[in-house]
Amino acid sequence: MDLLVVGSGFFGLTIAERAASAGKKVVVIDRRNHIGGNAYSEAEPETGIEVHRYGAHLFHTSNETVWEYANRFTEFTSYVHKVYSNFKGEVYPLPINLGTINQFFRSAYSPDEARALIAEQAGEFDTKSAQNLEEKGISLIGRPLYEAFIRDYTSKQWQTPTTELPAEIISRLPVRYTYDNRYFNDTHEGLPVNGYTAWLEKMADHPNIEVRLNTDFFDESQPLNKAAVAGKVPVVYTGPVDRYFDYAEGELGWRTLDFEQQVLPVGDFQGTSVMNYAGEDVPYTRIHEFRHFHPERDYPTDKTVIMHEYSRFAKREDEPYYPVNTPEDRERLLKYRALTEQESGVLFGGRLGTYQYLDMHMAIGSALSMWNNKLEGTL
Ligand code: FAD
Ligand code: UDP
Repeated sequence: MDLLVVGSGFFGLTIAERAASAGKKVVVIDRRNHIGGNAYSEAEPETGIEVHRYGAHLFHTSNETVWEYANRFTEFTSYVHKVYSNFKGEVYPLPINLGTINQFFRSAYSPDEARALIAEQAGEFDTKSAQNLEEKGISLIGRPLYEAFIRDYTSKQWQTPTTELPAEIISRLPVRYTYDNRYFNDTHEGLPVNGYTAWLEKMADHPNIEVRLNTDFFDESQPLNKAAVAGKVPVVYTGPVDRYFDYAEGELGWRTLDFEQQVLPVGDFQGTSVMNYAGEDVPYTRIHEFRHFHPERDYPTDKTVIMHEYSRFAKREDEPYYPVNTPEDRERLLKYRALTEQESGVLFGGRLGTYQYLDMHMAIGSALSMWNNKLEGTL
C-alpha cells in the first residue's frame, strides 16, 4: 500500500482516484457501512425514488477543472434548483427577488421602484458597521422581509437569536431585482444522471483502490488503525480534526440535522423539491420531496417520498454537519491547525478534517489541489 485514505467522501475519493490513476496502491477506509460520505444516496425500497440520505445535495460549480473532472465519472441532468418558502401559510419564491417583493407587498413595483423601497426599509442600519446577523440582514433587505424570511428560519437553524449570531453568516444575502429565482449563480449545475452513489462508486472503481467499510481509524482491533500505521504509510485523513487529536484542545462545535422520512400515498406532495418553512410556529426548517429532483425518471405516480429536516447542536455521538464557528471554535481550530502541521506523514482534508463548510465542488477542488501540490511526486 502506498497511501491510506481515511474517509470515502468526495475529498477522500478524489485523492484515492488521482493516486490510483498515477499507479499508486491505495486503501480507503470508512467507518460507515457505505461509500460516499454525506453525498451518499439510495433508492427508497418501496418506490425506487432516489433519496439523499444525509440531506438534499445539489451539484453546482463555476470551476472548470472540477466540472471537467466530475464529468469523467457521471453525466449531469439539466436540473435547476429553485426553493420556495412558506411564510404564514403563503408560498413565496426564494432567494428574495422581484416576485417575492411584489407578492409580499401586494404590489407591481418595477425593478427601480423595488430598489428604492428596499433602500428606504434598510436605512435603519449600515451594512458596514452591522454588529450582528440581525443588523446585517436588515441593512441588506429591510426589516419587513428580514423578519418574514430570515429571522425565525435562521434562529431555528442555529438555535441562537439572530442578535447573537455573527454578521458574517449572511455576508451577502442575494436580493434580485428581476424575477429570476434560480437558487445558485454558478455556470454549471445538475444532478448525476444515475444518482450520487453510481458517481461515487465509479470514482472508487479502479484496480489500485481497495475500499474497506465498517472500518474506524481509531478502532485498534482493525489493522489499519492510527497507532498501527503511524510512520509506516502516508495518510490522508478526512475525519473530524478534534477527534484525531483526542479532543486535546477541546471539542469543536457542530450543528447536526435530524431527518424524518415518509412515503406518502400521493403522486405529488408539494409540487417542488424543497419548501422552506420560515416561521417559528413550525418546528422543522424545510421539507424535501425527492421525486422532483429527477422529473426525467419513471417514478411511480401514486406514491412520493418526503423528508422533514430539523436542525440542532451536535453532541459527540451525533453526525457533525455544519461547523458552528463561534469565536471559541475559531481559536480552538488555530490550535488544531498547529497540531496538524506537526503531524508528519498525515495530511488533513475535507469538511471534517479542516472544520470548514465545503460544498461538493469545493471538496473535490481542494482534494485536486492537495494531490497536485502535496502528494503527486512525493508518494
Ligand atoms: P464527508 O462526505 O463528510 O466524508 C467524510 C467521511 O469520513 C465519512 O464517510 C465518514 O464516515 C468518514 N470518517 C470520519 N471519521 C472516520 C474514522 N474515524 N474512520 C473512518 N472513516 C471516518 N454540497 C453541495 O455541493 N451541494 C449541496 O446541496 C450540499 N448539501 C449538503 C447538505 C447537508 C445536510 C450536508 C451535511 C452537506 C451538504 N453538502 C452539499 C456538502 C457535501 O456533503 C460535502 O461537500 C461533501 O460531503 C464533502 O466531502 P468530504 O469528503 O469532505 O466529507
Ligand atoms: N436562510 C434564511 N431563510 C431561508 C433560507 C436561508 O434565513 O429561507 C439563511 C439561513 O441563515 C441559512 C443561510 O441563509 O443558514 C444559508 O441557507 P442555505 O439554504 O443556502 O444553506 P444550507 O442550509 O442549505 O446549507
